[in-house]
Amino acid sequence: MSDLVPPGLADRLALVSASTADAEREAGRAPGGLTTIVVTKFHPASLVAELAALGVRHFGESRQQEATEKAAELAGLDLEWHFIGQLQSKKTRLVLDFARVIHSLDRLSLATAIDRVHMGTAAAPVDVFIQLNLTDDASRGGVAPGGLDALAESVLASPAMRLMGLMAVAPLGSEPRAAFATVRQAGERLVRIAPDATALSMGMSSDYREAILEGATHLRIGTAITGNRPLPG
Ligand SMILES: *Cc1c(COP(=O)(O)O)cnc(C)c1O
Repeated sequence: MSDLVPPGLADRLALVSASTADAEREAGRAPGGLTTIVVTKFHPASLVAELAALGVRHFGESRQQEATEKAAELAGLDLEWHFIGQLQSKKTRLVLDFARVIHSLDRLSLATAIDRVHMGTAAAPVDVFIQLNLTDDASRGGVAPGGLDALAESVLASPAMRLMGLMAVAPLGSEPRAAFATVRQAGERLVRIAPDATALSMGMSSDYREAILEGATHLRIGTAITGNRPLPG
């Protein structure tokens, strides 16, 4: 299959993989402890298939309709889809049809919607990350730090969800390491009420090294691996 891979994709994947391993060593962490999710939003299903042929299993998407179509087209490949974008409650069922993991749980009403959709199904619980908003702009997605405990309690009370930990995006123009340290500290508080919620989904193309140094367990990397995104369709 390798002759189908456009020049560069395998090289970029290998480069990011080497760099994440370097950062793990720099952080004094055992290598191989990270889950790298390749973010393929706006890219065609064919690119996902090329990455799958290179051994990638975890893919991240941020728009329901686009992701639903891609997941259906690639259903034979046994991929794990992570939903990482803002999620309207009314789209919950459509997202749970393909995604096993939601990184963007940011409000009680969405937790309620997941609980309702899941109720009465035999599906395994959905893995969820609570997204923390590190800005003062409520439209950015994510719960304000003050709302974290209440949201975590509601996830813990629901059989529909397994609370993995926290997700965040470093704000534009901020020092990413400081932003990720804030997330790590919030995670240290979260495990007091949710001892199993130890995961941290943080680190994108431009800041994954800083995220790894602050304890990231799940990286969401797009352009550093895929190349530039086409314009949204
Ligand atoms: C697009 C996106 C990413 C990946 O961004 P890159 O800069 O391309 O690595 C990660 N997380 C979220 C939430 C995104 O929307």
